[in-house]
Amino acid sequence: MKVVDLRSDTVTQPTPAMREAMMAAPLGDDVFGDDPSVNLLQDALAAALGFEAALFMPSGTQSNLCALMSHCQRGDEYIVGQFAHTYRWEGGGAAVLGSIQPQPIAHAPDGSLPLADIAANIKPDDAHFARTRLLALENTIGGKVLPLAYLSEASHLALTHGLARHLDGARLFNAAVACAHEFGHDPYAAAKGICSHFDSVSVCFSKGLGAPVGSVLCGSRDFIKRAHRWRKMTGGGLRQAGMLAAAAHHALEHHVGRLAQDHALARHLAQGLQSLNGVTVEAPQTNIVFVDVAPGKAAGLLDHLKARGVLATGLYRLRFVTHLDVDAQGVDRAIAAMREYFEGV
Ligand SMILES: *Cc1c(COP(=O)(O)O)cnc(C)c1O
Repeated sequence: MKVVDLRSDTVTQPTPAMREAMMAAPLGDDVFGDDPSVNLLQDALAAALGFEAALFMPSGTQSNLCALMSHCQRGDEYIVGQFAHTYRWEGGGAAVLGSIQPQPIAHAPDGSLPLADIAANIKPDDAHFARTRLLALENTIGGKVLPLAYLSEASHLALTHGLARHLDGARLFNAAVACAHEFGHDPYAAAKGICSHFDSVSVCFSKGLGAPVGSVLCGSRDFIKRAHRWRKMTGGGLRQAGMLAAAAHHALEHHVGRLAQDHALARHLAQGLQSLNGVTVEAPQTNIVFVDVAPGKAAGLLDHLKARGVLATGLYRLRFVTHLDVDAQGVDRAIAAMREYFEGV
């Protein structure tokens, strides 16, 4: 039985075509800046998203960390969501390594940070306070797409107060595909449109895009120069990284449009689960389906699924993530295993 792994979109294996692209990649020493495949990826993404420059990073966490440290100095703070990756899921790196203070804010139900709450948390220039320097948003956030009008307003608010704007776009292209209809059905135009509201953006290639490793940080030339120093200092200078960059470049060219299939499968999964007794399903906007399980029902569920070749994560709030290596049969198996558990048939 083929296991359907819905734990995360990070579990994807490189496709045969991606492996070929990796094997064929011309290589150099990227610490000297002469790996042509790394340079190609950086230039391609910067151009696609409308930035001056870009930098290949080993992970999204390092990319976000270098971004925060390039925007903020010791004693500065960034405004960020309570459940944002850059606050909750990165080991406190900005505080530990950057002496940068996070100012977390509760999310609205749509994942956004209410503008009034952002404004209320921007500190006056007073020796009592950290210097508020940056607004850090995330899109998608918990699988939700931040509305374009919101991005524009939040960006305007930040600029009005002299704040820089960073986007954790680990799943930028999922957001772009989900709002592509507002950009003539062109997901690349949508990604660029989203990025137009930010000074820097970090994009993960190892999530739904299906590359084995790698993120890219985009920004102005000057910003990327600062980030380059932090990347070196945090141990992220790689040598013949072109093999990895080639995988990401292949994903950029071939795996963006197909994210729509992941989103369709997520909707299919949600539809299959919503009528089950004892579960509450949140309608997915992209590739992540959250399912709330009645408290008495949670224990034993993950083991039940696993025994039927279905992997998921979470406890009371179950998470299923669709991706490149999940097909309709796998989703149907997940639905059947859930039905068996909750309805005994
Ligand atoms: C996965 C992820 C990252 C970074 O992940 P790495 O595992 O460090 O590559 C950053 N932000 C979000 C929203 C993510 O989902």
